[in-house]
Amino acid sequence: MPSYTTPLRDLCFVYRELLDPEVIQALPGYEEVTPDLVEAILAEAGKFCEEQLLPLNRTGDEEGCRFEEGSVFTPKGFKEAFRAFTEAGWTTLHAAPEYGGQGLPKFLTMMLEEILSSANFSFGLYPGLTSGACSAINGYASEELKQRFLPKMVAGQWCGAMCLTEPHCGTDLGMLRTRAEPQANGRYLLSGSKMFITAGEHDLTENIIHLVLARTPDAPLGIRGISLFLVPKIRVSDDGSLERPNGVSCGSIEKKMGIHASSTCVINFDAAEGYLLGELNRGMEAMFVMMNSERLAVGIQGLGIGEASYQGAVAYARERLQGRSLSGAKYPDKPADPILVHPDVRRMLLTMRAYTEGNRALSGWVARELDRSLRHPDPRTKQDAADFVALMTPIVKAFMTDTGFEVANIGMQVFGGHGYIRENGMEQYVRDARIAQIYEGTNGIQALDLVGRKLPAHTGRCLRQFFHPVRAYLEEKENDVSMHHYLMPLAKAFGRLQQATAWLAQRSMANPDEAGAAACEYLRLFALVALGYLWMRMADIGRSKRDGEEALFYQAKVDTARFYFERILPQTGALFASIMSGADGMMKFNDEAF
Ligand SMILES: Cc1cc2nc3c(=O)[nH]c(=O)nc-3n(C[C@H](O)[C@H](O)[C@H](O)COP(=O)(O)OP(=O)(O)OC[C@H]3O[C@@H](n4cnc5c(N)ncnc54)[C@H](O)[C@@H]3O)c2cc1C
Repeated sequence: MPSYTTPLRDLCFVYRELLDPEVIQALPGYEEVTPDLVEAILAEAGKFCEEQLLPLNRTGDEEGCRFEEGSVFTPKGFKEAFRAFTEAGWTTLHAAPEYGGQGLPKFLTMMLEEILSSANFSFGLYPGLTSGACSAINGYASEELKQRFLPKMVAGQWCGAMCLTEPHCGTDLGMLRTRAEPQANGRYLLSGSKMFITAGEHDLTENIIHLVLARTPDAPLGIRGISLFLVPKIRVSDDGSLERPNGVSCGSIEKKMGIHASSTCVINFDAAEGYLLGELNRGMEAMFVMMNSERLAVGIQGLGIGEASYQGAVAYARERLQGRSLSGAKYPDKPADPILVHPDVRRMLLTMRAYTEGNRALSGWVARELDRSLRHPDPRTKQDAADFVALMTPIVKAFMTDTGFEVANIGMQVFGGHGYIRENGMEQYVRDARIAQIYEGTNGIQALDLVGRKLPAHTGRCLRQFFHPVRAYLEEKENDVSMHHYLMPLAKAFGRLQQATAWLAQRSMANPDEAGAAACEYLRLFALVALGYLWMRMADIGRSKRDGEEALFYQAKVDTARFYFERILPQTGALFASIMSGADGMMKFNDEAF
C-alpha cells in the first residue's frame, strides 16, 4: 500500500512565498491568521489525516458501503473516524462563529480538502458536502432556519447532501420532476425520486439535511421553474431537537468503479416536509452557491489524488530495480539500477509533479481571491476577486480533475504490472479519481460554462482579472535576461490564448457550435497558460533561494518549471491549432454514420 505524507513544505511555499500571506491578513477578521498559524493548523490536519483516515482508505475501498433494509452502513472504522474528525473541530474551520465555526479563511479549508482527498477521498466527501450545504443555507435561509440547522451541521452532528439529479436528467436539470406542494403553514411537501446522491444516506450522523431542487405545481417549465428546498431526513422541532422521520428514504445504493466508501444513493421523497431556500423559481441561483463551492472542492480532489499517486510512484521508482541506465550503470553495486534512472520513468514522474505542484499553486491563487471576494472592504476589489473566482472555477474543476486522473494513471504506469494489482493501492487512485471528471457537472459542461458564460459575462469583465496580472508580470520581467527562457514561451502561449479568445468571441456569435466544439481544448489551453504563469513565478522564487539552506527544495522548483516549459507548455500550440480548425468537420459528420 503506498504511504502518504502531507506535503506541508509545498503547501506553505504556496501560502507564504508564492501568494503573499499579507493579502489574507489584511482582510477584516483575519489579522491573526499568521503564516505560522496556518502552518500549525495544516500540520495538525496532516497528522490527523495520516493517522486516522489513511489507514481506512484501502479497507474502505475493499469493504465499501452496505445497504440493508433502507439503511446504509459505511465501512468499518468510518463512524469512529468521523466522530474523531468532528471532535477535533475540522468541520468548523471556515464556518461563521455565530453558528459555532472558527471563522478562518476559506484558503485553509481548501488546503485541508487537498489533504483529505489524498488520505481518503471517499471519507472527505461526507464533510465536504456538508460544508457546501452550509454555504447555501447561510446564503439563502431565514435567520430562524439558520439557527435551527447550521450549528449542528457545522459541528458535524448532522451531515448535508445535494439532491439535483433524477434518473432522466443530470446535466439538463430543467427537466426535473420532483414536486413541492405548498402548505398553509408556509412549508412544502416534497415528492419525487433523486438518484446518484452522494452521502444521501449513511450511519455517520443522526440526521441528514438534504438540499433538494424541485418545482411547485404552477412553476414555469424548464430551469426557470426550479426552487430549492431544505428537507431534513428527520424532522427538527423549533428548539432544534429531533422529532419523527420525514418521508425521506433510501431506495438503494450504487455499485460503482471507485469511491466505494462513499454512499451513492437513490433518495425517495414521499410528502417530505421542506422549507423554501431563497425565492420561489430561483432555486438554481441558490443551488449555485453550493455547486460553485463544490466545483472548487472537486478540482482539489483531483489535486489530492494526484499528490498521493505521485508520492507512491516516487517511492516505488526508487526501490524497484530493473535494467541499467542507458548511459551506463548508475548503481553498479546493485543487481540492476532503480527504475528512477530511466528517462521515460523520469518523464512520468516529472509530468506528475509539474501538474500536481502547478495545480496546488492554481487552487491556492483561486482560494486567496475567494477570501478577498468574501471579505475585502473595498467593493471594487471584492468584485474583481469575485470575477476572477467565477472565471477560474470551471478551469479548476475540469483541468485539475482531468490532470488528477492523468497523474493517477501515470502513477499506476510507474508501477508496471504491480500497479494493476489491487493490494498495491495505485489502481484505487485511478478508480477514485475518475468520478471527479463527471460529477458536479461533467468537464465538458465546465468548458461550456467557461466559453458560454464566463467569457462573455459583462463584456469580458471576468477575463480581465486573469489577463491583466499575466500581462503585467510579463512586462515586469521583460528586461530580466535570466528569465527569458520562461518569458518567451509564456508570452507565446499567452498570445495563443488571447488570439483563441478573440476568435471564439467572434465566431461563436455567428454560430454557437463553434464555441461548443472548441470549449474543452480552449479550457485546457487556458489552464496550461495559467500554470505556465505560476510556474514562471515559482521558478523566479526558486532561483533566488536555491543557494540557501533548502537548496534541494528550491532547485527542484526551478527544474520542475523547466520541465513544464519544455515538455508541457508546448501543448498549447497543438491545442491552438485544434481550436482554430473550427466546428465544421465535427458538425458535418453524418449522424447515421456514427
Ligand atoms: C458517484 C456519483 C456521485 C454523484 N453525486 C451526486 C450528488 O451528490 N448530487 C447530485 O445531484 N448528483 C450527483 N451525481 C450526478 C452527476 O452530477 C451527474 O451524473 C452528472 O452531472 C452528469 O449527468 P448525467 O449522468 O445525467 O449525464 P448526462 O447529462 O446524460 O450527460 C451525458 C453526456 O452528455 C454530455 N452532455 C449533456 N448535455 C450536454 C450539453 N448540453 N452540451 C454538451 N454535452 C452535453 C455530458 O457532458 C456527458 O458526457 C453523482 C454521480 C455519480 C456517478
